[in-house]
Amino acid sequence: MPVMSKVQENRPNDGPIVWVVATPLGHLSDLSPRAREILESADLIAAEDTRMTQRLVARSASQRWLSINEHSEERNVQVIMDALEEGKSVALVSDAGTPLISDPGYRVVSAAHAKGFRVSPIPGPCAAVAALSAAGLPSDRFHFEGFLPAKRSARQTRLRTLAQLPHTWIVYVPARDLKEVVADMLVVLDKARPITLARELTKHFETVKRLEAGQMDRWLAEDEDQLKGEAVLVVGGCPNPHAVIEPSVLAQQLKSVLPPSKAAAVLAKVSTLSRQDAWTLVMGPDEEEVE
Ligand code: SAM
Repeated sequence: MPVMSKVQENRPNDGPIVWVVATPLGHLSDLSPRAREILESADLIAAEDTRMTQRLVARSASQRWLSINEHSEERNVQVIMDALEEGKSVALVSDAGTPLISDPGYRVVSAAHAKGFRVSPIPGPCAAVAALSAAGLPSDRFHFEGFLPAKRSARQTRLRTLAQLPHTWIVYVPARDLKEVVADMLVVLDKARPITLARELTKHFETVKRLEAGQMDRWLAEDEDQLKGEAVLVVGGCPNPHAVIEPSVLAQQLKSVLPPSKAAAVLAKVSTLSRQDAWTLVMGPDEEEVE
């Protein structure tokens, strides 16, 4: 009886499938045995940079390799769909970490769903999750932001919104931009806000350092080596986000200081309530507004 490989055991309906394969962030031993087996057995490998992926597995004679990046992905979706139509298996990989997470792959996966093909993740490294796991910041809820805008004014506008989040948030930052990004954070964050820098994860010069925002600024200024490589910043949530006031509570507060129709007008303006509903909240359902 032929021995079934582990991958085949996990392929109940062998046939067309897109495997979404996570690969190491740096340390090559982080490629899981299952990921390796998929990469060795898939009929087609769609990789961001085929040379990078060939560091992980040798090219086999029967395999086709296809490069997909943000420019070629749209055009190559059809090639991948054709391969699936022919019953082939496709492994989708990015240069490092999990495909689609600030990386190409979304169009391929979306098109495969639209055509009814099976899509299956091979989970593994992801810089955001790795950073969060070691950040020492609340991790029960978090927001993943990915890359911030490159232009300073747009970045500060976005940071202003992120600064209000009540839970931890995560940004991807090329390490050379760390000083600028942390300086922009200090414009909108309290100096005491905790920030964890996770840089060069799984690599020789890995840094995982939690500091207050004001200290992070100084620490980066003193150690230029921290500005090399790839980095993630994990930022603690806002301790006092703008309180969201229930419209009914706000209605009563406005009524205590304004005439009823003014209170209703203000309430309608600052909420999504219609003028009529605002009046009802201020005065109750039985009171009609006199024009
Ligand atoms: N898909 C990847 C993932 O799953 O994390 C992310 C790809 S994105 C193009 C590259 C960014 O991920 C880098 O700029 C950096 O913010 C982060 N990153 C990737 N490798 C990293 C590492 N070893 N240490 C810290 N951050 C890393």
